[in-house]
Amino acid sequence: MGIAVSPQIHPRVADFIEKPRKMLINGKWINAASGKIFPTYNPATGEVLAQVAEGDREDIEQAVKAARRAFDHGPWRRMTASERGRLIWKLGDLLEANTEEFAYLESLDNGKPLGVAKAADVPLAVDLFRYMAGWATKLEGNTIPLSVPYTPGAKYLAYTLREPVGVVGQIIPWNFPLLMAAWKLGPALATGCTVILKPAEQTPLSALRLGELIVEAGFPDGVVNIVPGYGETAGAALAAHSDVDKIAFTGSTEVGKLIVHAAAGNLKKVSLELGGKSPNVVFKDADLESAIPGAASAIFFNHGQCCCAGSRLYVEKSVFDRVVEGVAEHARKITVGSGLDPETQMGPLVSEEQLNRVCGYLEAGFSEGAKAIIGGRKTGEKGYFVEPTVLINTREDMKVVREEIFGPVVTAMPFEDPEEILTRANDSSYGLAAAVWTRDISKAHRLADGLRAGTVWINCYNIFDAAMPFGGYKQSGWGREMGHDALNLYTQTKAVCTRLS
Ligand code: ADP
Repeated sequence: MGIAVSPQIHPRVADFIEKPRKMLINGKWINAASGKIFPTYNPATGEVLAQVAEGDREDIEQAVKAARRAFDHGPWRRMTASERGRLIWKLGDLLEANTEEFAYLESLDNGKPLGVAKAADVPLAVDLFRYMAGWATKLEGNTIPLSVPYTPGAKYLAYTLREPVGVVGQIIPWNFPLLMAAWKLGPALATGCTVILKPAEQTPLSALRLGELIVEAGFPDGVVNIVPGYGETAGAALAAHSDVDKIAFTGSTEVGKLIVHAAAGNLKKVSLELGGKSPNVVFKDADLESAIPGAASAIFFNHGQCCCAGSRLYVEKSVFDRVVEGVAEHARKITVGSGLDPETQMGPLVSEEQLNRVCGYLEAGFSEGAKAIIGGRKTGEKGYFVEPTVLINTREDMKVVREEIFGPVVTAMPFEDPEEILTRANDSSYGLAAAVWTRDISKAHRLADGLRAGTVWINCYNIFDAAMPFGGYKQSGWGREMGHDALNLYTQTKAVCTRLS
């Protein structure tokens, strides 16, 4: 493991971050009503990267007004589904044409390796917009044969319409800033909703740059409003606003519960994509040549800052040492450094707060008897780096096994009885994802059937696609992102019934 540093910055990104960035309300770039700005930091150095307009209650008020006007009276509602689809497709094209710039921005603001942002974050966001663009013209209702027993002989024509839910508030986290914006905006726009998007305070830049492309693509004013700011102020005001019809949130389970309370005022619809503590189960009959790197990447991808990270590694006892040593060997070889350095495989955590949180979990683990066979500490002279860490001697009652760490820390535990593993894997308040590694297809599908998780990967991990739904069982959330499931969250069904005779 080595620390690599590089100062290279893309020229267009340098221009973008030079001046304080404004917020997008009703198609215009404006300062916060309070005039306040807040800093976003480069997590590789801890230095201020850019200043951003700090949205608060008054800005949310203006953004909701703009979104309401655009929904009720604007050209957006009069556009055909095909026109709407073409705008979303165009946004995907514009994003793709600026892949390099977005990857730099994402790497600088979030800390992730530039190569990962270029290969995964930006192309996945482009693909999501294209997938959702296609759905705009395919949101069909049904015709329904009625029997109505109390009107014998009468005939009816009954059908359903799928209508947009209305003005939608979307609050997103910092781990995949651009991709989370795409997951949220794509289905909202495909269904004809209007949006107020609040990016995470740690990583507002790529959403703001995306806002420029939204304007360039030609979306009517007020259809997408982007208000950066803090969760307790701008986020809370959006969640509680009485003229918002739906709130879509991705973030911690703790804040998800606050959102549910805030939404109760006007009973707005709520969808939540929350935390996880996902079990990753390796059987002795697995192809260990792929299971070992798979288990390493399940936890170390994006520095473990994934809600679906494979943070509980269960390995059948006879291959436990081999698998755990193999994962540790992968961890040992990971080059930790600035996301902009081409050598870097793992960047810094997103913030000082996150660094302290992860280090706090490590201390709690050690004090309860866990042992690190690799890693276990903060690293680097500056920035928010943590060593990739493999913990053994862990038990299910430990904090590091029960709670979401959201860092590059995996707890490895052996199991003997293949029948017992399902109970242990499901022993969590979360249910976002799970994985099984085995060559026995019956066993794989038996586990897939029994695992209480929204996604089950078999002999792979962290595979995402715009067409495949993603979301949680239990306290990992309500509703699904991506796939056609996501469209249900942004539409409501109207039944229309006509008496014919
Ligand atoms: P993390 O703890 O990983 O930063 P959070 O759940 O706190 O995750 O943050 C996810 C998103 O939720 C961010 O955009 C943040 O600003 C927002 N947020 C935080 N607190 C609140 C709140 N009380 N109401 C609404 N949004 C919030």
